Amino acid sequence: MKKENIILTGDRPTGKLHIGHYAGSLRRRVELQDTGDYKDMFIFIADAQALTDNMENPEKVRQNVIEVALDYLACGLDPMKSTIFIQSQIPELCELSFYFMNLVTVSRLQRNPTVKTEIQMRNFETSIPVGFFAYPISQAADITAFKATTVPVGEDQEPMLEQAREIVRRFNSIYGETLVEPEILLPDNAACLRLPGTDGKSKMSKSLGNCIYLSDPADQVQKKIRSMFTDPDHLHVQDPGKVEGNTVFTYLDAFCRNEHFGHYLPEYQNLDELKAHYMRGGLGDMKVKNFLNSVMQETLEPIRMRRKEYEKDIPAIYEMLRKGCEKARETAAATLDEVRRSMKINYFNDAELIAEQIERFSKE
Ligand code: ATP
Ligand code: MG
Repeated sequence: MKKENIILTGDRPTGKLHIGHYAGSLRRRVELQDTGDYKDMFIFIADAQALTDNMENPEKVRQNVIEVALDYLACGLDPMKSTIFIQSQIPELCELSFYFMNLVTVSRLQRNPTVKTEIQMRNFETSIPVGFFAYPISQAADITAFKATTVPVGEDQEPMLEQAREIVRRFNSIYGETLVEPEILLPDNAACLRLPGTDGKSKMSKSLGNCIYLSDPADQVQKKIRSMFTDPDHLHVQDPGKVEGNTVFTYLDAFCRNEHFGHYLPEYQNLDELKAHYMRGGLGDMKVKNFLNSVMQETLEPIRMRRKEYEKDIPAIYEMLRKGCEKARETAAATLDEVRRSMKINYFNDAELIAEQIERFSKE
């Protein structure tokens, strides 16, 4: 990572954050933040985007803004090192989205595979809100208003990043070099690209209710793990089992490290040995689940403890967000100045404009 990189990413306040967020993006953000090898880091709570499919439920969005902020701090995001802000408080983002709308066709938006799946999930087929349909455009504005170079996200965001890159190329080719093409930063661990839900469905997602939340109490985490989907053909301990598509193993792929074996399951050296035993037969689901539970508890316990501390001073969290919004707004406003200049809609801060017009009219 180079010092001139600007990192930006965010989450929708549609619920508390879960271990899919942690694996897909949050853990990477904290690592990036702690290396310090970047120019700026922006993390935002996408409340305006959450309203595109929760328009009738503003209270839900409002409540979850603070939940997401607490999850951020609990995971180790540090407002001294990164700017944490709320999307709706930056009106420049709406303005930029409005200009971007001219650069994208309806058919291009219809081809976005993530939006297609999300429309189906929400039963929006016959009545898609325009705001929801167009959210990839608004997301492109969120990224480019901060001139972000690097966007650490899960795999479901790939089509959004591609769309943002197209918009930037089109903007720059029409109006002149102004905006920066962002690069996606995917998790390097395949299991983290799109962590499945505890029900085995393809994606853990707040909207599907198949999540282990970062703030779940220990006994709930254990209960959720115990009832998880494994290999449906692994009926007896002696039976050979499958590890592909077996969610318990996918979570181990995402979260377990070799040292966890020494602490909790010393008869194995590493995950490959555990998998080999499961595939041969003779290893029961319960043993694997108990191990996963130990790994998850070790991962989540410090996050839960820190969250409890932050919950004791809620006004401080709002103050942190307010300051973050202020700083983010300055950056976005500076980009919008450049955007308006490039688009020739800067009528009152262009010293040459009036002189040019005088010249033009004096000729006529
Ligand atoms: P919603 O259902 O409201 O869309 P969500 O659970 O999909 O919520 P988002 O706020 O849309 O969460 O996603 C925030 C970030 O977390 C994105 O970078 C996304 O790629 C990542 N992410 C979300 N779910 C997963 C997952 N299951 N595995 C990996 N990354 C994920
Ligand atoms: Mg999502």
